[in-house]
Amino acid sequence: MSERATPFYCPYCGDEDLRPQEEPHAAWLCTACRRVFTVKFVGLNLTGKAPR
Ligand SMILES: [Zn+2]
Repeated sequence: MSERATPFYCPYCGDEDLRPQEEPHAAWLCTACRRVFTVKFVGLNLTGKAPR
């Protein structure tokens, strides 16, 4: 699986207009707040407990 996860919203301002960045690797630019960030997939929680 790819290290790059696809964010649908900016985690900082909530905007949806995100652009992939060449550098740094796997980073995304939020065009609304100009923040550049990465999203990393770390695994699955399969314990079966529903979130409260
Ligand atoms: Zn943003």
